[in-house]
Amino acid sequence: MKKEMEPSCSFCGRKKKETQILISGIEGHICENCVNQAQQIIDEELFQKHKKFQFNLPNTVKPRDIKKFLDGYVIGQDEAKRYISVAVYNHYKRLNQSKNDEVEIEKSNILMVGQTGTGKTLLAKTIAKFLNVPFAIVDATVFTEAGYVGEDVESILSRLLQVCNYDVNAAQHGIIYIDEIDKIARKGDNPSITRDVSGEGVQQAMLKLLEGTEVLVPPQGGRKHPEQKMVKVDTTNILFICGGAFEGIDKVIASRMNQSKVGFKKGKEKDKFDKDNFLSHISPLDLRTFGLIPELIGRVPVLVHLDPLDKEALTSILVEPKNALLKQYKKIFKADGIQLNFDDEAIEYIVTKALEFRLGARGLRSICEAIMTDAMFDLPSEPGVKELMVTKEFVEDKLEKTNISKLKAA
Ligand code: ADP
Repeated sequence: MKKEMEPSCSFCGRKKKETQILISGIEGHICENCVNQAQQIIDEELFQKHKKFQFNLPNTVKPRDIKKFLDGYVIGQDEAKRYISVAVYNHYKRLNQSKNDEVEIEKSNILMVGQTGTGKTLLAKTIAKFLNVPFAIVDATVFTEAGYVGEDVESILSRLLQVCNYDVNAAQHGIIYIDEIDKIARKGDNPSITRDVSGEGVQQAMLKLLEGTEVLVPPQGGRKHPEQKMVKVDTTNILFICGGAFEGIDKVIASRMNQSKVGFKKGKEKDKFDKDNFLSHISPLDLRTFGLIPELIGRVPVLVHLDPLDKEALTSILVEPKNALLKQYKKIFKADGIQLNFDDEAIEYIVTKALEFRLGARGLRSICEAIMTDAMFDLPSEPGVKELMVTKEFVEDKLEKTNISKLKAA
């Protein structure tokens, strides 16, 4: 075999001088980037191979430990985290209770109320990650009453079955996040004008599911039809977490509290403060006025609110969580041997724009994509580049070239 003058990575072809470390083997070499990538592949493969769901909470795990885990991924929302930690902890106590006991612990399904992009889905996802149980997200808006065009509520369970490869036992211990539950509010007292007309019927159909019952589920989801083979799923031990923005509920809370919001609405800041304040006073009664039926409210007894995200929270979201956006970009560039950094002014500018465009945390991602795409496209082909410093000017320049309305639609 003809020996090259300068050794290079046998996997990616980088020359020794383009790498930080080049490890030699019998037949060739491997650079640090390829070692990292190989490790990721190994981790992923092993995870898939040994993926096992667990249906018990270890004795050592207490509500504080659950919250601590959530803290690693979700910024702020302390109250919601505390309530959820307790609800999940009690859920497991319930699973392990003796069948003959007179006192029966009831389900602690959860309802989260908070503006879009404040971390409702993230909280539900993170809980499922912690518990290592199957987890599915469904959107309440696609469900309709039996007999109407749309999906039957039973197909909520089809999603869960699909997630765990039709392992019925695993599905029966899973968690389902039902998003946009506010969109099936009843017509009437609801101050929102965009609502599903068949909302109340869907709420009725959901009751049994939430409480715990045996349901015949169409494995592929969608609508039931006579020839389809059904799978029987018992929902008794499935934890349901519902979430919704409940747009306009602040007015409902305000009027219940006998305070006209209009009275002290002076300027945007004041308006925001009032809104925050009212949401933290939410009670089941407000949900009823909003258009949820009492039976449904009774089946989601843990009611929590999420706070709107301010500048400080958005900044933390960018840099702090275990898989914070900026950490993700750094990892992407590192795989190409590029050290990526963001200076403080750049971070502040990104956050200011997210607030200005009213994009919330979800907007951080679309803004960052707009900023980083050119560099992600070009730099991998420029092996000489070893470092990229993102400054405020860099961010301004990239955002100027971006169609802001496109960001808003993201
Ligand atoms: P919601 O369900 O409330 O509409 P999501 O949980 O889907 O919002 O949040 C959208 C994205 O914004 C998430 O993927 C996450 O990256 C980020 N995010 C939102 N809130 C938080 C938070 N409190 N902490 C960390 N990241 C958050």
